[in-house]
Amino acid sequence: MPKILIIEDEEAVRENILDLLEAEDFETIAAANGRIGVHLAICEVPDLILCDMMMPEIDGYGVLTVLRQEPSTATIPFIFLTAKSAKSDFRQGMDMGADDYITKPFSRAELLSAIINRLEKHATLKRYLSPRTTINNLSPKMQLLEISLHRTIKQHKFQEFEIYYQPIVDIASGKIVAAESLLRWQSPELGIVYPTEFIPLAESTGLIVPIGKWVLKSVCKQIKIWHDAGINSLIVAVNLSVIEFNQPDFINKIVNFIAINNLQPNDLELELTESMIMQDVSSAIATMSKLQSLGIKIALDDFGTGYSSLIYLKNLPINTLKIDRYFIHNVANDPQKSAITKALIQMAHNLNLNVIAEGVETEAELAFLRQHNCNSMQGFLFSRPLPAAEFENFLLTNKCLYI
Ligand code: C2E
Ligand code: MG
Ligand code: MG
Repeated sequence: MPKILIIEDEEAVRENILDLLEAEDFETIAAANGRIGVHLAICEVPDLILCDMMMPEIDGYGVLTVLRQEPSTATIPFIFLTAKSAKSDFRQGMDMGADDYITKPFSRAELLSAIINRLEKHATLKRYLSPRTTINNLSPKMQLLEISLHRTIKQHKFQEFEIYYQPIVDIASGKIVAAESLLRWQSPELGIVYPTEFIPLAESTGLIVPIGKWVLKSVCKQIKIWHDAGINSLIVAVNLSVIEFNQPDFINKIVNFIAINNLQPNDLELELTESMIMQDVSSAIATMSKLQSLGIKIALDDFGTGYSSLIYLKNLPINTLKIDRYFIHNVANDPQKSAITKALIQMAHNLNLNVIAEGVETEAELAFLRQHNCNSMQGFLFSRPLPAAEFENFLLTNKCLYI
């Protein structure tokens, strides 16, 4: 099991986290202050570090600064634990290279979700760097997730799923032009489960097909509800999995959902990733072209993190390029990220593509994107993903924000 180092000076909080992680079968090591934390991190090289921000002697920033300079600890996923009142401080931590932060007091589900997301991301990166590494068998938590997900689908309990919507804003006008639909699962056994945890499992077990169908159907119904409420000019993006996209009746399914809800094909944008397309380039291009010829928009999601095959980009039938949030995070202060992001925007514009920056969290990032003519932004700076009713409320009470 992954080894997690907890650096926290408050004994009660530390013990609580230790109990929780041990119950999930994580291997744990604990430090009561930053100095011991740095020492343990260097000796033990854990798989992930949870670190309090406010500590006497060396605080969280100090720990992070030392560890990021040490080659053996520089890439260990690092999550800050912050007090609510210190929320403004987290930016500094993120800018210094922390991977995430959690605000105290946090729930068990929040903590586990942050840890698992980070571990998975790190594992993906490692696999990417050494493709022959084999993937471990499922952990107990993943086994429980699989059993629970199976049961939900088998018993048609789709009411456990909910679709959230995150606004996408045109940078020049400041108006909401689109929304991305993002799936959440409220599991009776596990609490709220994020898609980064259950989508890969749903993909590997084939459960993604009924889930994806439910998502498409629900999003189309929701667009119809919004049309009826006078919200007409909003494009809604849906994330697809490769298995769904390769289903022989996929196009018919979409066409049918569009027709029964009286929608226009361009009310929808389908988000694909490079890796999905690269699995079978010619067949993917054929499906994408067909969808586009029907008027359905196509976006390339998480751009820059996959194969980044710029040669193929020219031949892909897409309308939109979404720059992954890895590049956007701290883009204004990181010379490499800013050079890449500038080049991506320029290149996309040369290919007549619409560009969306993902994960915009700060005014500095937004200012950079505005300066370099990025078309749209999506991120916590403007809004987190919201349940449909909240999203609608947001639009209706801020009518000036959409066209
Ligand atoms: P994605 O398509 O790249 O979606 C963007 C993710 O970034 C979302 O995570 C969103 O909540 C998060 N995000 C947005 N703004 C910010 C920000 O400012 N900062 C940070 N740190 N994060 C931000 P989420 O909702 O957890 O979804 C994760 C991934 O799961 C999605 O990545 C997408 O690949 C997949 N996914 C979500 N819903 C579906 C679905 O219905 N079907 C399929 N196949 N995949 C889905
Ligand atoms: Mg997406
Ligand atoms: Mg994305």
